[in-house]
Amino acid sequence: MGERSGVISRKCPAKILAEAIIIGLTTLQCVKPDGKISTRNGGFSLGLLKQSAMCGHLAAVISFCRYFDEDVELQQLLDGKISAVNMLELELNDFRSVYQLPEDHWCSATAKDIIASENGTTGLQHQLYDCLIEKDVTAFVEDETVGSVEKARRGALQGTEAGAFLLATPKGDCKFLSKHFQTACLLRLGLPQPFIEPGTKCSCGGVIDAYGHHLARCNRGGERTERHDAIVRTLRQLACRAGIKCSYNPVGCFSNPSTNSDGEVITFGNLRPDLRLFMGGSVVGLKEDNRDVVADVRITDSTGPSQIGKGIPRAEKEKIGKYGLASDANGLVFAPLVIEMLGQFSEKTNHFVNSLVHTLWEKEPELFPESVLLRYWRKRLSSVLQRYNALSLMARYQRATPATNGTDCVFDESRNDNIVAMCNV
Ligand SMILES: [Zn+2]
Repeated sequence: MGERSGVISRKCPAKILAEAIIIGLTTLQCVKPDGKISTRNGGFSLGLLKQSAMCGHLAAVISFCRYFDEDVELQQLLDGKISAVNMLELELNDFRSVYQLPEDHWCSATAKDIIASENGTTGLQHQLYDCLIEKDVTAFVEDETVGSVEKARRGALQGTEAGAFLLATPKGDCKFLSKHFQTACLLRLGLPQPFIEPGTKCSCGGVIDAYGHHLARCNRGGERTERHDAIVRTLRQLACRAGIKCSYNPVGCFSNPSTNSDGEVITFGNLRPDLRLFMGGSVVGLKEDNRDVVADVRITDSTGPSQIGKGIPRAEKEKIGKYGLASDANGLVFAPLVIEMLGQFSEKTNHFVNSLVHTLWEKEPELFPESVLLRYWRKRLSSVLQRYNALSLMARYQRATPATNGTDCVFDESRNDNIVAMCNV
């Protein structure tokens, strides 16, 4: 990591520097040489300036990192010597020069004037960039020149829920360790993971690639289950907040047998879904339906070789095959909840989350607007998913490489430095 941090002042306090390098590393690589923010790699939100958290603020600032060489020293910013006006001025300059606007364009106003104006900077980011980004996003999604795997990857990144973790205030379930945030961002951007030495052997015998594809799909270890369970727990918390009694891994849901077309009896043994929502019929959009809902979660990977671009429909079909008949025979409504590893929800998952949030909002409609609640729960689910993605990649790599790196120092960038030599002094 060390050699990439050159743009940022070394005088910065160590902890903040660490955050900055980590976020900077992520964004540095996705800023094109001409200074445009690349949405090609998966889109990095430009809305981060809105966030008050230091972490998000730095990310936004570092998005315009070319200034660090020329105009802005991070230390000055942290000392408060660079004001919001200065930053906005730099941003406006960037906007004008990159996009070569006509001289009388409204954004030729100075930062000071804009801040002093009636609406201030409210919605300014959107005004500046929306029209430009829209084109990029459409081109990104509809690009026919990319291969099927890349196309599937871009598909799996879609939906506001997929990138929601980038905008989450780092608290509670939405708090990442810096290294996990970095890994999650690089995963989203489709860039190599710096902690991986490409070509390293995995504990399963496979070869680990720089992007972590193998690590994401490897069957060794319980990380996949942990990620799945974390998502289930979060959904359960949402259901509980919405006032719906909800049991985790319930037994005895499918005690009634069914019969097939030949009259043979089919029993469902110990089949256990992830969640049972008592009298939750209305949650899946069935008005006046007081049946219980059983839900089962699957995190899928549409970029995997066996299911390129169709992870969601395939997983949904498998889930319905497993639970559909059993649910029918027991008077239950079944909800398959499929989520792409890169963040996109299936339509049914989106509907499930939206309906739970709506139920939650109805309890106390004056407390928060429904849209705020929905954004919050999307961020929370997105953060949990991406945190566990990052965790599992790193844990698997750590397990795979103890012989070469030692279990305690796999992620310690100092292993490339002279620390060992210093110890011998
Ligand atoms: Zn493996």
